[in-house]
Amino acid sequence: MELGATVCTPTDPACSACPIASACEARRLGLQAELPEGTARRKPVPVTVAAALIQSGNRVLVVRRPDGAVLGRLWEIPQTALDAEGTQDLPRVLAESHGLAIVAGPLLAVVRHAITFRRIRVEVYAADLAGPLPLDAERVRWVTSAEIAALPISSMTHKILGASRRRQLPLALP
Ligand code: SF4
Repeated sequence: MELGATVCTPTDPACSACPIASACEARRLGLQAELPEGTARRKPVPVTVAAALIQSGNRVLVVRRPDGAVLGRLWEIPQTALDAEGTQDLPRVLAESHGLAIVAGPLLAVVRHAITFRRIRVEVYAADLAGPLPLDAERVRWVTSAEIAALPISSMTHKILGASRRRQLPLALP
């Protein structure tokens, strides 16, 4: 079978019928609709993401991305969407997407990262919880550094955590 002609077509990959789906990195990351980028490279799109670093002692709060989304099912610092433009209202977005009530504080760090055509600027803000946590440990949990190392997380989340540990606070808002 010619996989690229019959199953993994550029515009409509049939992942459910694909014989190599279990080993496919694009599917694991939820990027099957975006890869490969093709010979006509898509123009880079600047994206700004706001992330909330919520800490309790030596633990940090992480959330799991929904199945089927870009980077689906990976754990990350709570943040606004990759497909939105500009920094959004972080507390409102986290309430809607994860059921988290937070109060955002100062800007801690700025991280730059690229995913396919997106050129992402992540603004990491200190934040505090302003309400109870959702009870679903498969969606929201506190983790230590050792525990997060054992979770599936993206390289962007690695960068955010690294920058947050090295931060020189607070940064001035741009
Ligand atoms: S699982 Fe991977 S290789 Fe298979 S169709 Fe989907 S994107 Fe293509």
